[in-house]
Amino acid sequence: MQPVVLALAGNPNAGKTTLFNALTGARQHVGNYPGVTVERKEGEYRKDGFAAVIVDLPGTYSLTAYSEEEVVARDFLALEKPAAVINIVDAANLERNLYLTCQLLELKLPIVVALNMMDVARDRGMEIDVDKLATFLGVPVVPIVARTGKGLDRLMETVRKVVEEQPAGSDPERIKISYGDDIDRTLLEMTREVREAGLLADKYPARWVALKIIENDENLLREIKPLAPELTARLKAAADRVADHLAKTSDTYPEAVIADHRYGFIKGILKRGVITHRYDENRLYTSDRIDKVLTHRFAGPVIMLGVLFTIYYVTFNLSALPVSWVESFFNGLSGLINNTLADGPLKSLLVSGIINGVGGVLGFIPLIMLMFFCIAIIEDSGYLARVSFMMDRIFRIFGLHGSSVMAYIVSGGIAGGCAVPGVMATRTLRSPKERMATLLTVPFMNCGAKLPILALLIGAFFADHRSLYMFGFTLLSWVIALVAAKILRLTVLRGAPTPFVMELPPYRFPTFKGLMIHTWERTWQYIKKAGTVILGISILLWAMMTYPGLPADQAARFTQERTWIVEHYREKDQREFQLAELEARREAAALRSSAAGRIGVALEKVSWLCGFNWRTNIALIGGFAAKEVVVSTLGTAYSMGQIDSGDSVSLSRRLARDPSWNPLVALSTLLFMVFYAPCFVTVVCIAKESGSWKWAFFSIAYSTTIAFLLSLMVYQGGRLLGFGC
Ligand code: GDP
Ligand code: MG
Repeated sequence: MQPVVLALAGNPNAGKTTLFNALTGARQHVGNYPGVTVERKEGEYRKDGFAAVIVDLPGTYSLTAYSEEEVVARDFLALEKPAAVINIVDAANLERNLYLTCQLLELKLPIVVALNMMDVARDRGMEIDVDKLATFLGVPVVPIVARTGKGLDRLMETVRKVVEEQPAGSDPERIKISYGDDIDRTLLEMTREVREAGLLADKYPARWVALKIIENDENLLREIKPLAPELTARLKAAADRVADHLAKTSDTYPEAVIADHRYGFIKGILKRGVITHRYDENRLYTSDRIDKVLTHRFAGPVIMLGVLFTIYYVTFNLSALPVSWVESFFNGLSGLINNTLADGPLKSLLVSGIINGVGGVLGFIPLIMLMFFCIAIIEDSGYLARVSFMMDRIFRIFGLHGSSVMAYIVSGGIAGGCAVPGVMATRTLRSPKERMATLLTVPFMNCGAKLPILALLIGAFFADHRSLYMFGFTLLSWVIALVAAKILRLTVLRGAPTPFVMELPPYRFPTFKGLMIHTWERTWQYIKKAGTVILGISILLWAMMTYPGLPADQAARFTQERTWIVEHYREKDQREFQLAELEARREAAALRSSAAGRIGVALEKVSWLCGFNWRTNIALIGGFAAKEVVVSTLGTAYSMGQIDSGDSVSLSRRLARDPSWNPLVALSTLLFMVFYAPCFVTVVCIAKESGSWKWAFFSIAYSTTIAFLLSLMVYQGGRLLGFGC
């Protein structure tokens, strides 16, 4: 028998993943929905001759088009017409969960309600009359406990029955929710028009289309406009009339009325004896009691800072050892190649290009895994929702959302993180504009790769106020990020804040399996994205800094000089020293005449305004590939040969003595370095996460502009005030 397609739909935290895993086991396939970054998970189910492909839809509270997840879920249901929808519902939060059920019912899809978390409901003293609920909803309801697998067999038998008894294309007669006199009347009229025109008839029921137009659903309007421009205008006009009427008569708007009536419908069902409470309804549930402390007005933020700091501390400390293993592995590899291969382009490519670049990224994996693991803990337990809840009010001032906070912290909001997982962490944001604003500003944070250059320049020029400057730069990164977000939200990402109620799901003890799955899924994405891209860019950058190499006459002069040294310095130590010095000068000269060097020189025409010479420019170009590269490139450019971080003390002394450097130049360089274009890997992630390269280029352009203006202001201002002359 050909496997049928089943969709798994439900609110976030209803237990969808748990049920999905229980039903499909290891037979899973993870991909993306075309064009968007929402994950698409599929798994196979097979039992007693019943074969199905189960698609785990993104968790949503609704089927409006506020978030990508909702659009994806809706499109899937409409376009792929699953044989049945398993609607997983959290029995302990029936009222909120049934909101989605109402909308699925209106889509007239064959539904089976899987009433999950029956154990939790029972613990809370709730008794649910399953048969009554099924009668009122008009669809089968099967109680389950996804975590233990209880009821799953019955669930799938019911699903099978629904699939087999309902030939595709049937149009089940469903209860209709009334939306009040005003809307109902228009809805009836509009439904008739939609039906007669056959508008989207292959996708949605006519009443649903009409309802969406009244709800002013932008996605749907955009879809029908080219199909039937006149009809759309007429329908829109009818919808506007209701909206006007509602505004005048009751000072409200259609979406609110529709939502109210849906909740009303649910309340109505629940009140008719579906739920009976064995305990006093006002009893505080455990979650509420925990919340009394964790979201307390004063204690809450303090605990939050403590938790965030702990995550940060654990991640960076526990990962230090494994990170050093990975590093020594790559160092060993470099050493091996150094000793076995002859000098030449191949060796240079392998060591400087590939191993340095890819190793630098792979070296982060232990850290990233730990970070994701910690985040999985606070996410799965329900605490992350509280953090977002507490931050929400502050972030809203800047046009962001409480859930943005985690992305900033992961990116280095406290110090040392990485914008790549930060950009990915914006996935928890459900509204597109707030998400974009967060996505575009997280790279301003002080990621781990910026720390070496901060340490170098602050050490060289502001050694007396080291911690003050470090703290200042951390603080400044927050200020710039939030202000930039605000500006974006007032310009390119203009729009009212998405109406979105902060949900506080009950606290739960995370399962180890769940944590591992979440951690691994995210880590693997990081490896895939960063690993492939960084390889390419490292090779490119290496080539830019190596070719075309010294012009023949210069090369000849260095060879001459080398011969001269070998002949004139009889004493070995002295000769070696002179040769090393010559080699460093040769490397610097080669760098200057390389492609990157020429760009650096050309850029001096503009960069002198901020006090950067061609050497700094090359380092900044290199920093675009990976910010770690800034220090090593400066090292090469200042003819220090290979400089690794351990040696940067001498580089810092060298810079401090160099006449083209002074505290003002250092400050201006630091400002530019911290805020200019995100590194290449981050840019690629931004492109992927935003679904378009346009945003990636925008991110490069606007952050570089901000950085340039900051440096310019500080450098020119400083010179006017007489510093650094
Ligand atoms: P999703 O967001 O819908 O994918 O939800 P998950 O499957 O990740 O589940 C959220 C949490 O609820 C996890 O910690 C699960 O272990 C837990 N959970 C899922 N089903 C049940 C259940 O039937 N009973 C209990 N007590 N916990 C459950
Ligand atoms: Mg899930």
